[in-house]
Amino acid sequence: MFMDRHLFEFTLQAKQNRARAGTFLTPHGPILTPIFAPVGTQASVKAVTSSQLIDIDTNLVLSNTYHLYLRPGDELIAQIGGLHEFMNWKRPILTDSGGYQVYSLAESRKITDDGVTFRSHIDGSMHHLTPEKSISIQENLGADIIMVFDECAPPYDQAYSENAMNRTHAWALRCQAAKKRTDQALFGIVQGGVFPDLRNRSAEFLVGLDFPGYAIGGLSVGETKDEMNTVLEAVDPLLPENKPRYLMGVGTPLDIINGVIRGIDIFDCVLPTRLARHHAAMTRYRRYNLLNASYAKDFKPIDDTCDCYTCKNYSRAYIRHLIMAKEILAATLLSIHNLFSLIHLTTEIRQSILNNQFIHFAESFLTEFEDANRNLRDLSPEKGSTQI
Ligand SMILES: [Zn+2]
Repeated sequence: MFMDRHLFEFTLQAKQNRARAGTFLTPHGPILTPIFAPVGTQASVKAVTSSQLIDIDTNLVLSNTYHLYLRPGDELIAQIGGLHEFMNWKRPILTDSGGYQVYSLAESRKITDDGVTFRSHIDGSMHHLTPEKSISIQENLGADIIMVFDECAPPYDQAYSENAMNRTHAWALRCQAAKKRTDQALFGIVQGGVFPDLRNRSAEFLVGLDFPGYAIGGLSVGETKDEMNTVLEAVDPLLPENKPRYLMGVGTPLDIINGVIRGIDIFDCVLPTRLARHHAAMTRYRRYNLLNASYAKDFKPIDDTCDCYTCKNYSRAYIRHLIMAKEILAATLLSIHNLFSLIHLTTEIRQSILNNQFIHFAESFLTEFEDANRNLRDLSPEKGSTQI
């Protein structure tokens, strides 16, 4: 671990229109942006070991406060020296605040200005999470980047969104006051549903609190791509250039391109590992379900342009066989490919920004994406359409 006066400094290395390439310094090394972070919900990126994550150039991993607080408990993780030791991940880690999971998973939750009382989805026990408690849990977990406790509103309810935004702002102040550790960067979270006016007010308020980074929350929860893009365009000019921006829970290849075009630096999503457990391979432009009978005698790799361990060593027929035989290696091989695919997309994006080639890169991506999906629409199911 290094500590110096540059800790949590974000250096903008290149910019093309709104797209940015930068470096964010953390106690566990620099984060080179744009970056995609795999999700390790239970202190584990499902079906993939730390050394496999390193092999595919993973730099940042996200873990979930809500899950780790309930099981095995943040105090137990603090005893072993924090999440980096516990899960054997020595590169940067980001934890969320627990807010989103409380709203999406917990039973019988009650929200007041003080915090949220909820029933655990694991054993039914009652818990009370406040901004102060969320910070204390995240300090026990010891991630490099931690998040303010926020309230996620349904995206289309304007009155609810405004109340949730105001509460998120009050909680952001309480999180800043509660924070004790100096080796963790606390990010603010811009809320406000699909309403650009609320998003503007949220960004302005949080920028006034001078966080070392800003997340955009409450997106990818059912709104359209256009609505997401409108929110990103409303927020982008208000956020400071010299701080990283993190779009929470977003991570299809198309969303990543659209996010980078609108000034986003950090992405995370469960999609690549979740799809892998449902037998699906992601490529840049399409998804394939390897369970499909058409792959039974297909000895090509998932993607013959991909350099991942799976594509270099295994055929579609072999992976389909593993799925049919219910072998757990299928999830590992598909997760390695899917994660590699997204991580290397962001690496290429970063390189194209540094080379002043991003506009061209994005245009050809969007054209290829359109073509691949137009062709797919032309395929009838009898002809073997394989998109899931
Ligand atoms: Zn591959």
